Amino acid sequence: MDNILEISGLNKKYSDFALKNISFCLPEGCITGFIGINGAGKTTTIRSILGLTNKISGNIKFFGTDMDGNENEIKDRIGIVLDEGCFYDELTLTEMKNVIAPAYKNWCEQDFIDYLERFSLNPKQKISTLSKGTRMKYALALALSHKAELLIMDEPTSGLDPLVRSQLLDILKDYMSKDGKGVFFSTHITSDLDKIADMLIMIHNGQIVFQEEKDQLLDSYRMIKGSTEELDESTRKYFLSIEENSFGFTGVTKQVSEVMARMQDVLAERPTLEDIMLANVEGGKKACYLA
Ligand code: ATP
Repeated sequence: MDNILEISGLNKKYSDFALKNISFCLPEGCITGFIGINGAGKTTTIRSILGLTNKISGNIKFFGTDMDGNENEIKDRIGIVLDEGCFYDELTLTEMKNVIAPAYKNWCEQDFIDYLERFSLNPKQKISTLSKGTRMKYALALALSHKAELLIMDEPTSGLDPLVRSQLLDILKDYMSKDGKGVFFSTHITSDLDKIADMLIMIHNGQIVFQEEKDQLLDSYRMIKGSTEELDESTRKYFLSIEENSFGFTGVTKQVSEVMARMQDVLAERPTLEDIMLANVEGGKKACYLA
């Protein structure tokens, strides 16, 4: 499997935040979820990869070609859906499309018309009157109408209702059914990725925590439940996070065999992606994710 995107040694600095030596790759044919809590560095990474903000250092290769010096050729091959959706509010959907389409060599008007119909978008509607979900669908219609081989989306599901989110996931599955495609999708709503992601990359405090295939990732962690009497200094160290209450404890571990060998009366369950993400955040508490 070829890599559709390779990033190595990406560094970027704001006054109070830095991306530190980010390296990862996206294999072709995969939907890759880019996860992390608010402020972890997802948007900054995406903007740095796309050359929308200056990086200090790092090598970015799309389709085996360096981004530096080949930006136009590469951007022709990528569909981009950003959180803020850079549109002129006073234009209609068609007028805005007329501004954007000439930038792409492979623009396909028929694909655009088909997507407008599929998403029930009115080409005469003004951008300013679009709801958040409709605006995202419009951004997606634009991103998918120039034969893009890689779709990069920053938090496309945040603020969308469950129906629109599930429609988006169906569209992504359709898109991936053609050969040679890839999707890179940042989110802190991990339940969407439970359904469709093949690969997960987690970022925290500007650093990559892991890159792993979803099924392998879910297999390598366990959520352990038991009595707090089972917890002592020698067993606590096997957990990434532990929550205790009057009924007992719940902890997430990667050292499943060690835990099972030392704790006699506990239950081991498969965690969700959210459990794994939170366990890898300092403290592992839901409160810090939801804050
Ligand atoms: P969210 O899920 O909330 O969108 P994120 O993981 O996408 O978060 P970023 O938007 O990349 O996180 O922000 C990472 C950090 O960088 C934050 O602390 C943010 O305040 C800071 N940051 C982002 N943009 C700038 C900027 N233009 N100038 C200074 N600091 C910035």
